[in-house]
Amino acid sequence: MLSEYRKQYFLNKYVLITPGRAKRPHEILEQSHEVVDTDFKCDFCPESLKKEELIKTYGNAVGAPQKAPAGKTTGLKTLDKSWSMAILKNKFPAVTPDNNKAYGVQEIVIETPNHHQKFSDLDEKNLTLYFEVLADRLIEISKDKKIEYVLEFKNHGSKAGASIKHEHSQIFATNILPPDILEELKLAQHYKVEHNACPYCDILKNELKGERKIWEDKLVGAFAPIAPEYHYEAWIFTKRHADNISLTTTKEKESLAKCLKHILGKLDLLNISYNFFLHQVVSYSDQHFYLKIQPRDTNIWGGVELGSGLVINSVSPEAAAKYYCQ
Ligand SMILES: [Zn+2]
Ligand SMILES: [Zn+2]
Repeated sequence: MLSEYRKQYFLNKYVLITPGRAKRPHEILEQSHEVVDTDFKCDFCPESLKKEELIKTYGNAVGAPQKAPAGKTTGLKTLDKSWSMAILKNKFPAVTPDNNKAYGVQEIVIETPNHHQKFSDLDEKNLTLYFEVLADRLIEISKDKKIEYVLEFKNHGSKAGASIKHEHSQIFATNILPPDILEELKLAQHYKVEHNACPYCDILKNELKGERKIWEDKLVGAFAPIAPEYHYEAWIFTKRHADNISLTTTKEKESLAKCLKHILGKLDLLNISYNFFLHQVVSYSDQHFYLKIQPRDTNIWGGVELGSGLVINSVSPEAAAKYYCQ
């Protein structure tokens, strides 16, 4: 198969797909070095959480956030451990509410009280809770009228920049809308005017009919995007046009959980580090919410990528989708 340039749908971004140099899944098995584990003193384990760092905890009951057990503990003493997920203040934030030159809020989502549990091993009920937690934090953080943009993301594995083994996600909210996101919004708006339809609704409908489809149920669909920047990149969409995670239903979150679990299970077999992202533009209320999973394996960007901005990817999205569907 010959190499070809592919355009990222309606965006002005191109990827050079080079299947001639394709690697089979086992060839991209990550030579991951274990993240240095600080078992003896992990800041995210329930016994080391400090009351002044804890924002909120969430229990087992889906959709029933629990307040931090205020009053039960004082000072640096141990807190109630009966939570499934917990929100902490970021200890080393790049943006803070008291800095007008770099305004924002940063939080950590601890996804399990168990230090050794893998995120992809959480059951569907807890993965559904995970999406409930992200929705709840988005609502809470967006109450601050200065916040323009909220990024909720996860780094898993050494190559994805996860420096702490205990599974967690991060929330980065700021008063600046990143230029790439603004550009995507503008082009999506342009598409809407021209086609009288949401570009992502159209993309999803088309991709679920083709060979890049990864997973589908009544409410959610996933596919390998036509011009992926990363090996085995996958996008997950709700079929219903919803602006952000807080506007999805519990049933949709359950489907998102099932789909995410399927995809991460496949990445686990390759022991690949990954990132995933949920972008929310607070000041704009008509995006089509989606989750972008970008595995971080051996597709290390070299001279072409750094010099020209053109990305080369040797695993075609059609081959990636086939792997996910096996
Ligand atoms: Zn821990
Ligand atoms: Zn849409």
